[in-house]
Amino acid sequence: MVRHLRLSSLIPAGLVVEAIAENEGVIIITARSGTPARPCPLCRRVSSRVHSRYVRRVSDLPCSGTKVELRLVARRFVCDAPLCRRRIFAERFDDSVVTERSRRTSRLECIVHHLGLALGGRPAASFAKRLMVPVSNDTLLRVVRRRACLRTDPLKIVGIDDWAYRRNHRYGTIVCDLERRRIVTLLPDREVTTVEAWLADHPGIETVSRDRGGGYGEATAKALPNAVQVADRWHLMENASAAFPRRRSQVDADNPNCDRRYDDQSRLAHLRREAAIRRLSAA
Ligand SMILES: [Zn+2]
Repeated sequence: MVRHLRLSSLIPAGLVVEAIAENEGVIIITARSGTPARPCPLCRRVSSRVHSRYVRRVSDLPCSGTKVELRLVARRFVCDAPLCRRRIFAERFDDSVVTERSRRTSRLECIVHHLGLALGGRPAASFAKRLMVPVSNDTLLRVVRRRACLRTDPLKIVGIDDWAYRRNHRYGTIVCDLERRRIVTLLPDREVTTVEAWLADHPGIETVSRDRGGGYGEATAKALPNAVQVADRWHLMENASAAFPRRRSQVDADNPNCDRRYDDQSRLAHLRREAAIRRLSAA
């Protein structure tokens, strides 16, 4: 059954489209909330008496490779509760639409968060630019930090590694819950005492996955002497990737007659041919 596509279905739920336009490569959608009244944030009394209106500009998911900006017409309501100290309050949209003071819709914030988690600050910012998502390197890191919510259940298995606030300049420590694949905390530096103090506050941790350097190992041994320490898979692969070319260079240096143009198989065939020629020459 063919149905007409409503523009309201393309923007966050609960909003009503009032106008749409394009300006310098940006789709501008003017919308308002479909809810007639809002509760006062102080006394929770619902008010529908509008004092004034203002426009909030928030970025939304891009559409067909074009940036989208929502201009939300927000209202200021008058609180009629006699004992409430708040006379006028600004409209707050549902958190599923846009959170308070945010400059991005919640669904765009979710994408930004996942980009930051998957790629880190600078690579994610570069990729976001290709996706027409207006977000900077610093913003990506801020979103990741803001969403690193604390858990109430005791931690058991954690991963600890460096965290680049600014690459080659300032590093902190990131701690992840490996059972739930979530960031637990970001420590301001990577000093042994800082990590040790944090681990000591979480005595329930049983396993620590870490790099193969000594710092985190020392901190874990001091704070949690009974915890099992394991080398994480990423660092094992990275160390192996770095060690293999070094070993290969060493083998090449020990065998200066080897021709570097050949790979291992063709080099073997080459050596066999040379040996055969030498045998024939000697005969
Ligand atoms: Zn009130």
